[in-house]
Amino acid sequence: MAGRFHVIVIGPQGSGKGTQAARLAPLLQLVHVATGDLFRQLMTRDDELAREVRSYYDRGALVPDELTLRVLLARLDALEREQGDQYRGALLDGYPRNLAQAEALDRVLTERGDVIAAVVHLVVPREVLIERLSGRLICLTCGATYHVRFSPPRVAGICDRCGGALMQRSDDTPEAVARRLETYEQQTAPLLDYYRARDLVIDIDGNRPIDVVTHDLLVALESRLAHNPCRSS
Ligand code: ADP
Ligand code: ADP
Ligand code: ZN
Repeated sequence: MAGRFHVIVIGPQGSGKGTQAARLAPLLQLVHVATGDLFRQLMTRDDELAREVRSYYDRGALVPDELTLRVLLARLDALEREQGDQYRGALLDGYPRNLAQAEALDRVLTERGDVIAAVVHLVVPREVLIERLSGRLICLTCGATYHVRFSPPRVAGICDRCGGALMQRSDDTPEAVARRLETYEQQTAPLLDYYRARDLVIDIDGNRPIDVVTHDLLVALESRLAHNPCRSS
């Protein structure tokens, strides 16, 4: 089954990609696909692949492109198999992160007859990012994201959505955060020009309350998705 419409979310660590993608996905009938979440699930296993991923992940380094693409494609294939026509497209959070990944994504989407409907760019100043990341909590069971002050769970330490235990990420240490932000500036931010040349980028001020950002994103994306000759369903 071909012809999905995907939305890419780009922004530095802490800009709210995961938070916003989780809220938007059901509203836009897209599936939230976060490569970081896929790696965190993979690392709960006790095997060679899990150890290999962890050797990059905990340092805040990118996992090699080929392995990352394999993990992403396995997820997209599973969505095709499991959801069939229910699956309209993915909200890609954390992929692509460098030019090689962007080119690989173009290739595989073309092969599938899929398109990129939009690239959302969340803009947030650096000092705000650090504050957000140092209070971030995540649910390993369902991937939901919280913040001790800005977005606390109803019961401390417990996921509102699934009841799972909340924890700090092993790579939200000051050293790994600094390395990830640097990699973002050097390798990921230049992708914005790659997509701007195709008129795909929507810049959104992410330094506002979570609900306000979600609303703006929804308005911007609904019109983009409506302009595509999307299959009715
Ligand atoms: P963050 O955006 O805060 O770095 P993510 O959850 O998106 O967090 O990713 C966590 C880690 O997973 C990254 O530091 C990297 O090791 C790995 N990772 C995620 N996405 C990719 C990707 N597209 N390419 C390579 N590595 C990735
Ligand atoms: P990313 O996926 O881009 O790394 P997250 O969605 O994980 O970012 O958000 C990082 C942290 O900031 C989380 O703790 C989240 O609860 C919090 N956060 C996200 N968006 C906002 C916002 N608009 N205002 C305040 N805090 C936010
Ligand atoms: Zn949960």
